[in-house]
Amino acid sequence: MDLLNTLVDKGLRRELPTREEALAVLATSDDELLDVVAAAGKVRRQWFGRRVKLNYLVNLKSGLCPEDCSYCSQRLGSKAEILKYTWLKPEEASQAAAAGVAGGAKRVCLVASGRGPTDRDVERVGKTIAAIKEQNEGVEVCACLGLLSDGQAERLRDAGADAYNHNLNTSEATYGQITKTHTYADRVDTVQKAHAAGLSACSGLIAGMGESDEDLVDVVYSLRELDPDSVPVNFLIPFEGTPLAKEWNLTPQRALRILAMVRFVCPDVEVRLAGGREVHLRSMQPLALHLVNSIFLGDYLTSEGQAGQADLDMIADAGFEVEGAGTATLPAHRADVAEAATGGGCGSHGGGASLCGPAGAGEADPASGAGCGSACGGCSGHAEAAPVPVRADAGEVRSDLVAVRRRGAGTDLAPNA
Ligand code: SF4
Repeated sequence: MDLLNTLVDKGLRRELPTREEALAVLATSDDELLDVVAAAGKVRRQWFGRRVKLNYLVNLKSGLCPEDCSYCSQRLGSKAEILKYTWLKPEEASQAAAAGVAGGAKRVCLVASGRGPTDRDVERVGKTIAAIKEQNEGVEVCACLGLLSDGQAERLRDAGADAYNHNLNTSEATYGQITKTHTYADRVDTVQKAHAAGLSACSGLIAGMGESDEDLVDVVYSLRELDPDSVPVNFLIPFEGTPLAKEWNLTPQRALRILAMVRFVCPDVEVRLAGGREVHLRSMQPLALHLVNSIFLGDYLTSEGQAGQADLDMIADAGFEVEGAGTATLPAHRADVAEAATGGGCGSHGGGASLCGPAGAGEADPASGAGCGSACGGCSGHAEAAPVPVRADAGEVRSDLVAVRRRGAGTDLAPNA
């Protein structure tokens, strides 16, 4: 297939595919799916071998958000019966993080619901980062606290944060249909602030919210332009009690095509399979390991993932290996760029290759359905929540597929790691 040969050649050179090529990946048939996975897998192995980085989410503050992100179970007006609690104490968060690290996680992602942190919140999270780093030598810490004000990214960096997550989530053109309380530009601004402060930028998307192929390509090209070091790809977890509860429009095959497209557009970036993998990929999850080089271990912010041991077994059974704490995640050319505090980014950096290129616009938070942080990414905004219309062909609520998190942080029960 000429398309796939071209995309592999470009991916190995960190060269940006054309929009038409990216759209063509999404338009491939189910008969072509294994060829698409194999092609993107060559690019993945070139830059990341067979390593899988594990990340562990700690929801520092759950629910009761004033923002109206329609995909989020923690949003203003959400009827989802999720855990609701205010800030965990540093020692509580550290205890939760330690469980993830013991399970093999190399990065801990500290997430809090809300539009953005106050300076006092930043100070509080700084203490939490210190507690985690004291207990877990070598662990990476990523903060996901919503929209940042001037100076907050620098204070988080000085407190020991390694990375900051804020997702673009969807295309600039459709962002206003997903959230009314903050804008796409707000999100882009926060990613740029993190980058400028020398934090490793993490920004991704949520697929499955009723967007078009063009929207998906737009947001991924925008991410490449922003040049984050890691790109979480979430698949909407349609929580009962949220406006998108009936948006069940992904198949495992489409989810794999989306991941392949992201890999071709961002060949040398940490592409992370995030919220919704169990719900939408189901028994096809192992195939996704040929496309992504990073996953979350265990549970998400407000929903439960498969057992942590099942994640580890899946990685081993599929012939991959968990990335150790002493191994650099990013290829050397990107690490060099990060050290120079200029950012790397979807293949665009480095080595004087033309690479990067056009770009779209975008934003987003991790974990769909999960809310901020891993899922959120977009914490911000407030307001008069305007409901997002549900598509006429939407399916039914599938409470059988979405398990609300009842263990780990904020509970007396052991975390899943
Ligand atoms: S994604 Fe973040 S900002 Fe948006 S509603 Fe959820 S917790 Fe709030």
